[in-house]
Amino acid sequence: VLVDLHAHTAPRSSCSRATLEDLVAAARTRGVDALCLTEHDVAWPADELAAASRLVGMPLLAGVELSTDVGHVLAYGPLRRPLWAKYRLEQLVEEAEDGEIALVLPHPVRREAGERAARAGRTPPVPAEVAARTAWRHVHAVEAASTQTTTAEHDLVAAALLAAPRPAVAGSDAHAPKRAGTFATRFQRPVRSTADLVEELRAGRVAPVRLDGEEQPNHPE
Ligand SMILES: [Zn+2]
Ligand SMILES: [Zn+2]
Repeated sequence: VLVDLHAHTAPRSSCSRATLEDLVAAARTRGVDALCLTEHDVAWPADELAAASRLVGMPLLAGVELSTDVGHVLAYGPLRRPLWAKYRLEQLVEEAEDGEIALVLPHPVRREAGERAARAGRTPPVPAEVAARTAWRHVHAVEAASTQTTTAEHDLVAAALLAAPRPAVAGSDAHAPKRAGTFATRFQRPVRSTADLVEELRAGRVAPVRLDGEEQPNHPE
């Protein structure tokens, strides 16, 4: 099954211009089976997510993109702290010990490699440096590609994955219409619920896939 693990809806994520209907339509066009709604620091109430899922006719799974001391971290499954209290990575890792949540590191090197980084005078880190960062080994999987990152950044993450292998996933990180499903994650086993998703992510039975049919560089917004 194919799941887009990372997407933002308007108005729940203020940075997004895509409605839920936009995201679902785009994901469906690309053959994606389920979509995770990962708003910034806000979770969909379970009943609303279930109702929305019935309405659009596609499994919608629960996630959230947390702002932490190490940057953004995607979390799937039931979190214990109120989100306004903010998480530090070590608190997330501690909560993850009971096996009910899965953590993914999104865009590990965003704005660190590619044209824009070069224009800003930034020298990209070497792969070993990326792989040595704390979050790299504490999450359950690393996001290898999305619409919000450049091809040079995808190459750098791929090289870091060779230096220090981790399970790898992909998600669109869609913030605009027609983007959902451009990147997704292939799961080896069925994913029918957020609990299934958490289990499979934690087991690393995942692979990143690109579904936009393009070979040329990304142009993130
Ligand atoms: Zn992010
Ligand atoms: Zn995001």
